[in-house]
Amino acid sequence: MSTHENTAQLESPIAPAWLAVPDDPNHLNPSVWPQGASRTEEGELAIDGVKVSDLAHRFGTPAYILSEDHFRNRARAFRDAFNAAFAPLCGGVDVYYAGKSFLCVEVAKWVQEEGLRLDTCSGGELALAARAGIEGPKLGLHGNNKSDAEINRALDMSVGRIVVDSLQELERVAAIAGMRQLRAPVLLRLTPGIHAETHEFIATAHEDQKFGLSMTAVHGERSTAERAVGAALGHPSLELLGVHCHIGSQIFSAEGFALAAEKLLTFIASIRDLHGVSLKELDLGGGYGIAYTDLDQPKEPAELAAAMADVVGATCARLGIDVPRISIEPGRAIVGSSTFTLYTVGTLKTINVQHGEDISERRYVSVDGGMSDNPRPVLYGATYTAALASRRSEAPSVLSRVVGKHCESGDIVVKDAYLPADLVAGDLLAVPGTGAYCWVLGSNYNYTPRPPVVAVSQGQARLILRGETEEDLFRREVAS
Ligand SMILES: *Cc1c(COP(=O)(O)O)cnc(C)c1O
Repeated sequence: MSTHENTAQLESPIAPAWLAVPDDPNHLNPSVWPQGASRTEEGELAIDGVKVSDLAHRFGTPAYILSEDHFRNRARAFRDAFNAAFAPLCGGVDVYYAGKSFLCVEVAKWVQEEGLRLDTCSGGELALAARAGIEGPKLGLHGNNKSDAEINRALDMSVGRIVVDSLQELERVAAIAGMRQLRAPVLLRLTPGIHAETHEFIATAHEDQKFGLSMTAVHGERSTAERAVGAALGHPSLELLGVHCHIGSQIFSAEGFALAAEKLLTFIASIRDLHGVSLKELDLGGGYGIAYTDLDQPKEPAELAAAMADVVGATCARLGIDVPRISIEPGRAIVGSSTFTLYTVGTLKTINVQHGEDISERRYVSVDGGMSDNPRPVLYGATYTAALASRRSEAPSVLSRVVGKHCESGDIVVKDAYLPADLVAGDLLAVPGTGAYCWVLGSNYNYTPRPPVVAVSQGQARLILRGETEEDLFRREVAS
C-alpha cells in the first residue's frame, strides 16, 4: 500500500483541520525532536545512540529523557547569536536562562558553564542557584509578590538584579536595603502593552494582568512606571539599572520583541529628558517559541537577534540615546525541545464519536503517566505530538488521543495525533517537547511519584534527578 493511498483512506473527519496524516509515521521531524534523536536500523527510537528500550529498562517509565548536547547547543546558540548581533551596538548581551522553565543543580551548572546567567523567581530557586555554585552577581530575581525573606536572601547573595514589579515592592526593597546599609541593584518591570500571541501580536494601552508597572498615563498624571523611576532615583539604597519587559511566551515573530524594545527605549529617552539620567540596562525578557508539532516554525536565534538589533540600533539613533546593555531571558527555547517523555502504552480503547449524522472512531491510548508529569495540556490546552518509540510500524495511522492514568477525564497528554493502528500494550511511546514547564509543574496527583530526569550525551545516559519512590511520597506524613 502506498503512503498516498494511506493518506486518502485515513483522514479522520473528527481530526482538527491542522492535523495531517503523516506520510511516514516513523519519521522524526528534527524541529520537534531533540538533536541526536534517530531511529536505529531496526526502527527503534534512539538518542545519541542510546536506545529507548535500554533507557526504559534502566530507568523505568515514565521518564524525561533530556539531550545534554541539545540543551548546551541551544544555550550557546542564544548567547552567540545575540552577542554577535548586539556587539557593535552595546558590546554584547547578557543571556539569563529562565530557571522556572526547568531547573535542577546539574542543569544550573550547565547554564553557568555555557556562559549564561540565571533568572530566578523565588527563594527556592535562589537556594538552588546557591547550591549549584552560581555567583550572586550572575542571578536575577523576579516575582510579583516577593517576600521580605526573599528580598533579604537576594541581598545576602548579592544578586545582580532584583526586578521590581510594583511601587509597593520598590519601597520595601529600598527599606530593606537601607536598613542593611546596602545598595540594591534594581530593574523595573514595565508593561509595554504588547502581547505577542504566537503568530500575531496585539497592542493594548491598559494591561489587565498582575505583572509589572503600567506605562500608560491616565488623566494627565504620570504613569506608574514614571512614578517608579522617580521613586527609585530618590532612594540612595537603590541602584536603578534600567527597565525590563516580558511580553509573553511561545512567540514566533521578532516583531513583538522589536515593538516592545522600541517602546521601552522611548521610555528611557523620556526619563533622560525628565531626570537627566541615562538608564544603562534594557531587558527584553523571554518567550521565544519552539516547535511542539510539525506546524510550528520557530525562527533561529540569529534571525531573531538580527531583527531585534536592527530595531534597537535604529531607535536609539533616532532618539539620540546611548544603546543600553541588552539582556534576554529565554527558557523554553533552550530546554523545551531538548527533552522527550518516554511512556509505556497500557490500555487501548476505540470509541465511536458521533458528529452530526455520522460516527467516527477515536482511539484512546493510555500511558503510565499523564497530567502529573505534563499538566500543560490541561492548564493551557497545549498541543503535543507523539511517536511509537520502541519499534517501527508499517501499519496505517489512526486518529488517536494519548491520555494519562489519572482520575480526571481532562487528563490528556496529546489531544490529537495519528498513531499506528497496530499499537499494543507494552509499546513505548515518546512525546517530544517536554523539556519546559513539565517537570517543574508536575505533581504527585493520585500519589504518583515524579518520574526521573535522564540526561543523555555522547552515547551515555545518566540520572540527573532520580524518580521519586513511595518513601518519598510519605516523607512528610506526621502519623506513623
Ligand atoms: C517565564 C518568563 C521567562 C521565560 O519565558 P520562556 O517562554 O520560557 O522563554 C522570561 N522572563 C520572565 C520574566 C518570565 O516570567
